[in-house]
Amino acid sequence: MEEKKITVTSPLMPSLDELNVYLQDIWSRKWLTNNGYYHKELEQALCGYLGVPYISLFTNGTLPLITALQALRITGEVITTPFSFVATTHSLWWNGIKPVFVDIDPVTCNLDPDKIEAAITPHTTAIMPVHVYGQPCDTVRIQEIADKYGLKVIYDAAHAFGVKVNGESVLNAGDMSTLSFHATKVYNTVEGGALVVHDEQTKKRIDYLKNFGFAGETTVVAPGINSKMDEVRAAYGLVNLKQVDKAIEARHHVADRYREALKDIPGITFMNDVPGVTHNYSYFPIFVDEEQYGMSRDALYEEMKRHNIYGRRYFYPLISTFSTYRGLESATKENLPVATEKAEQVICLPMYYGLTDEDVDRIIEQIAR
Ligand SMILES: *Cc1c(COP(=O)(O)O)cnc(C)c1O
Repeated sequence: MEEKKITVTSPLMPSLDELNVYLQDIWSRKWLTNNGYYHKELEQALCGYLGVPYISLFTNGTLPLITALQALRITGEVITTPFSFVATTHSLWWNGIKPVFVDIDPVTCNLDPDKIEAAITPHTTAIMPVHVYGQPCDTVRIQEIADKYGLKVIYDAAHAFGVKVNGESVLNAGDMSTLSFHATKVYNTVEGGALVVHDEQTKKRIDYLKNFGFAGETTVVAPGINSKMDEVRAAYGLVNLKQVDKAIEARHHVADRYREALKDIPGITFMNDVPGVTHNYSYFPIFVDEEQYGMSRDALYEEMKRHNIYGRRYFYPLISTFSTYRGLESATKENLPVATEKAEQVICLPMYYGLTDEDVDRIIEQIAR
């Protein structure tokens, strides 16, 4: 018998009955987009849920990155990580900014604060770290460096929905943080995203920028883009928000089950929870040491696929190896030894709400063989 296919993720979806109540409202109001009723309601609800002062919704998680750079008038060079999803670096490219890759920390897989200062030049204007897998960056050290050199900090927090450090949202760090509500993330609005900012004035400016730069019926204050979230997806987001706690709890259970089973397998390592951090269990990366494990990462990855288990090698290949970026001085393997090694060892195991204990046990069995 063919074994059931297990994918790396599966979207959190609201109940159709509940969603339908919202849709009927939208249909009767006939207000479909442009800062509508549910758009405003979701912004409020997310501020409350996440513990942040201001949030501006977007159509996806890439445009808030591009817009944050515009709003802060970032130019020249920006220090960033190669160990992320391509959108992080693409947002710099779309603003004509030169990415400068800095290596990552071997424990958190986030930008290594010890290596940032050496990469700063007179052209550096900002740092764009990523809370990869939802593991918080060392925001204190990064801010100290930013303050010392007069740099802005924009966090790509696409993985960090709901993550807190000592009770405080990690989204409040730096000058701005961006979120993605793509279908594959912990919380989704099908496609969607947001920009978290600290004050009302900045929120207003972001709201102009995501609506062509319109600051009134006849006033355009900047060359903005169209990145407005519509009412249908805002409604989907409102309904989905009601079950996100339950979903994170279920992911926590999966992570615990993985950790318990994998802890004694030589050559397999994973990330542990950090004291004081409220995790969201958005991903479950394992790192395969070929020598100790007796099999390469790719061989394990293929072997799992043969058993209908589809992990993903996030983040392999490194962004710095793609044709657009590999010519940069900072893109060399020698400059990025830790990121290069992690990219060659990682497999993200299936992780989503609805993954059963039997599914998890089948995955573990393949790795333990
Ligand atoms: C998903 C993701 C994005 C982009 O989000 P989209 O909503 O797909 O545009 C950006 N950065 C990181 C790290 C991501 O994982």
